[in-house]
Amino acid sequence: MKYIGAHVSASGGVENAPVNANEIGAKAFALFTRNQRQWKSAPLTKKSISLFKERCEAFGYEPKHILPHDSYLINLGHPETEGLQKSRDAFLDEMQRCEQLGLDRLNFHPGSHLNLMSVDDCLIRIAESVNWALEQTFGVCAVLENTAGQGTNLGYTFEQLAFIIDKVDDKSRVGVCIDTAHTLAAGYDIRTVEGFTKTFNRFDEIIGFSYLKGMHINDSKKELATKVDRHDSIGKGVMGLTTFEMLMKDSRFDEIPLILETPDESMWAEEIAKLYEMS
Ligand SMILES: [Zn+2]
Ligand SMILES: [Zn+2]
Repeated sequence: MKYIGAHVSASGGVENAPVNANEIGAKAFALFTRNQRQWKSAPLTKKSISLFKERCEAFGYEPKHILPHDSYLINLGHPETEGLQKSRDAFLDEMQRCEQLGLDRLNFHPGSHLNLMSVDDCLIRIAESVNWALEQTFGVCAVLENTAGQGTNLGYTFEQLAFIIDKVDDKSRVGVCIDTAHTLAAGYDIRTVEGFTKTFNRFDEIIGFSYLKGMHINDSKKELATKVDRHDSIGKGVMGLTTFEMLMKDSRFDEIPLILETPDESMWAEEIAKLYEMS
């Protein structure tokens, strides 16, 4: 079965996210558990935590269908000591928030070398950061997202993600989230039946579907291999519907959160319904 949803607002408190997800007919959702544009956030209150859990249960959202996303400020591959420690501390806080909310996975962008270190050294540093955070937490899986490769962001090839996973000590607590728009922008042509099949067979060989903990379902405003990260609404971008039809009919994408991060939130309910029609 497919679990389709969107990255919904948690404004006013994390407990509002399941309500917002339910309103658009989502069977899965993503959220920020703190302000994603600030380094520090107030701790979650007991009331927020218990309301979040209560509402998830009431609306039928299980932890494995919820994909929290970390702050965009965090760079676990930061080349400088101060920036790295700040990032690690914030990431640990994000992991602990997930623990408190009873969630089992945290989605993050691997990191950027900022032209100050080599690609391999940065990938090793990201793995070290993940190991550091996993040692201090329990039960939450670190979910690396593939990127478009914009700027100096790493994680835009399956090989880079596999390289990081290889260096993470606890393989049971590391996974990946594949974003369709990032995949196309990074140079994987998933627009055709043939291209989609080839790309995900390659994904299975290099990383393995057992590591797939979620998907971001976005169309792209930018063409193949542009390395620019610009999401579009389903069917409105350059991707075409084949990508989404293939995905919806493929059982390898069952049971994980499939999350829309499309720009027009007024269309989410319609997009979710459309995707379910394809499945
Ligand atoms: Zn994404
Ligand atoms: Zn993106």
